[in-house]
Amino acid sequence: MFEKILIANRGEIALRVIRAAKEMGVQTVAVHSTADSDAMHVRMADEAICIGPPSSNKSYLSIPAIISACEVTGAQAIHPGYGFLSENSKFVQIIEDHDLKFIGPTAQHIQIMGDKITAKETMRELGVPCVPGSPGEVDTLELANQIAEEIGYPIIIKATAGGGGRGMKVAASKSEMSDAFTTARSEANSNFGNPAVYLEKYLGTPRHIEIQVFGDGAGNAVYLGERDCSLQRRHQKVFEEAPGPTIDAGIRQNIGKVCAEAVASINYAGAGTIEFLYENGEFYFIEMNTRLQVEHPITEAIYGVDLVKEQIRVAAGLPMQLTQEKLKVNGHAIEVRINAEKLPNFSPCPGKITQFHAPGGLGVRLDSAIYDGYVIPPYYDSLIAKLIVHAEDRPAALSRLKRALGELIVDGVDTTIPLFNSLLSEEDIIKGNYNIHWLESWLGKS
Ligand code: ADP
Repeated sequence: MFEKILIANRGEIALRVIRAAKEMGVQTVAVHSTADSDAMHVRMADEAICIGPPSSNKSYLSIPAIISACEVTGAQAIHPGYGFLSENSKFVQIIEDHDLKFIGPTAQHIQIMGDKITAKETMRELGVPCVPGSPGEVDTLELANQIAEEIGYPIIIKATAGGGGRGMKVAASKSEMSDAFTTARSEANSNFGNPAVYLEKYLGTPRHIEIQVFGDGAGNAVYLGERDCSLQRRHQKVFEEAPGPTIDAGIRQNIGKVCAEAVASINYAGAGTIEFLYENGEFYFIEMNTRLQVEHPITEAIYGVDLVKEQIRVAAGLPMQLTQEKLKVNGHAIEVRINAEKLPNFSPCPGKITQFHAPGGLGVRLDSAIYDGYVIPPYYDSLIAKLIVHAEDRPAALSRLKRALGELIVDGVDTTIPLFNSLLSEEDIIKGNYNIHWLESWLGKS
């Protein structure tokens, strides 16, 4: 086992990793920007190193600063959290070149899955069902029109280097293709430095269902069921639940096996998520995330596992403790993402938290790095807390969520808490009757 690891992240996820490491007897090193000197992850880690100014480009995304912090402190491994450098294959390569260990998959696996076209090709070859679409990049309007005719409208044009829900354009019919295609390419170029786009059939009313997988890097892998993350705004998830309200044990087992076998066959190491759109009983692969997801706690709740400890163990070369036979779904879990944002426009709302009270009780988990008097800096994303509830079934989990939200106090800044209070009285939410467009359409009406 490692003696000391460095966490190349901030906020709640840095705390999440520090907590796991502490319980394993592993020393922790936090890194932080000058804007985060008073942050909770800095206080909770055994050591902390300032790696640069507020701008993440010069701090949390600075590979030389992070590698130096490892060398100065003697940390043997780096946990990247999510976001920032977590899916940067160059970072992983540099870590390996410095004889350090990356807590996650290999640079090669990150690279394959980071490019959406290669990811899709790889998954198709591994037997994972994909959305019908162009075989690869589409670089001319002529080809785009031709492929769109074959697949049928509506069509979605996606940037190969895209991410975070950006870089997608929909063409409802041929007349919209020219505009959509040209805009998609130019936006892909300006946002991701790569104009390459590809085409997919646009699915009308799918749910977003993702499968959690975990591999040991030596040809063994397990699946830990699904999460339904269909409630999204601007392709950003806001409410996630596990199990999915429309997924039964048989469906779970079938798709889970396909995913676990796919990652096992490429010797994938660590946690990964295979994301699908799910419509009319069919799964369509959209992308794989080669890291821990924001919403991993709902999976931890229903399977009773600690995914971060498992990541650390596997990275240290110890055998994976998860076995498919032992992984059994227990109850229902829901996560809501509490952002410092002002409704109804969800505009970021940094500032000082004047009062904070965390909910508690059976089946309640709050992953957050805020505290009374904490000043949320304006430089980073607006997630300030994840409230996770776990109960024996879905109705009980919804009641528990309502109860816990009632206890949670965050004063001084606007937050998305009122959104969840309203959602919990919606019939469709109570029945689990929603798809990826439900939230935006509801927000448009309310
Ligand atoms: P990103 O990496 O930017 O998150 P994804 O490929 O995962 O991109 O897609 C993000 C979201 O965009 C999906 O959750 C879904 O809401 C929507 N989307 C992507 N592909 C399609 C498609 N073929 N049809 C309908 N919606 C899609």
